[in-house]
Amino acid sequence: MVIYDSDTIFYIISHPPISSPMPSKSKILIIYTGGTIGMMMNPGTGALEPFPFKDIYTHLPMLHLVEAEVAFKEMLPLIDSSDTTPQFWIRLATLIYDVYHDYDGFVVLHGTDTMAYTASALCYLLENLSKPVILTGSQLPLGVLRTDGRENILSSIEIAACRKGGKPRVPEVCIYFENSLLRGNRAYKDNAEHFNAFHSANYPKLAKVGVHIRYNEPFIRPATHQPLILHTQMDENIAIIKLYPGITQQAMRAVFNTEGLRAAILETFGSGNAPSHPEFIQILEDAVKKGIAIVNVTQCKGGGTVVIGRYGTSVLLKKIGIISGHDITTEAAVAKLMYLLGEGLSNEEVKYYMGVSLRGEITV
Ligand code: ASP
Repeated sequence: MVIYDSDTIFYIISHPPISSPMPSKSKILIIYTGGTIGMMMNPGTGALEPFPFKDIYTHLPMLHLVEAEVAFKEMLPLIDSSDTTPQFWIRLATLIYDVYHDYDGFVVLHGTDTMAYTASALCYLLENLSKPVILTGSQLPLGVLRTDGRENILSSIEIAACRKGGKPRVPEVCIYFENSLLRGNRAYKDNAEHFNAFHSANYPKLAKVGVHIRYNEPFIRPATHQPLILHTQMDENIAIIKLYPGITQQAMRAVFNTEGLRAAILETFGSGNAPSHPEFIQILEDAVKKGIAIVNVTQCKGGGTVVIGRYGTSVLLKKIGIISGHDITTEAAVAKLMYLLGEGLSNEEVKYYMGVSLRGEITV
């Protein structure tokens, strides 16, 4: 059965059909957005091209065996995830919200390049989430013999379908990749070659997959019992400045002079350190006075958190009103700032909420 609507194609190609009475099985919606996973080699040109997802059983025949009722939606146009935008995140969140009560869990097939940004955005846009939303993808397309996509999809479905005491086992936005389940807003892609491409240095894995799926219960966010709230506003007027020795005043000022800029992520050294010379501090202070919220996020992937004031070089940052990002990833900081600004919050409120763990994104 294929239903077309304006921007998605809906295939119900479960086996047995989803309409058959199987009350004990979880119903899982797989949303295909694009990326390497859904590609196959065009024998004529040798190039990778997306295959129609209604052919999924040709590429993944063992999908018939999963212990869940599975349905698929394609989000059109299929994109390379480098083309992801906040509008795409809002469409995806809305799609999940609209069918939230029809399914027990969601698996989002997504390109790996910006998967961590999308996972972070979804966690803010879907407030009070109490069902699994598992993002996965692959380094090799499903249509290639050695693909890692096969295991990634099958395990993601199993995790999304897993219930304990009748409740979803992992009621949060996650990334599943190569045997590891990670909190979405803690994860980042750090390898373009290895199957083991995602890590989460500042937060433990939510599950490890081997012969058994071992859930790391104490670190999984409990479901809230509040109704799901969909947020649909994100303010893109932010920027990232990655510090490096020798960064010029002109480069810094050019960013802060961007018209409409509301906030900036300052990627600092170590535990939140930055140059201490007066000209540099003055540029930051001017920007803060102009009303730009500046968040200090460390360039270090792991090893803890920004501690403004631990070293003399960061004491001044505190004094002029730079906001600590704690141990947030840059990906999550981008999504959180767009979300907070989209909610129309003042700089004081943004500062307050950057210090609050809204969806488990920081350790405070
Ligand atoms: N460029 C691709 C994407 O992110 C890579 C991938 O899917 O792994 O869409």
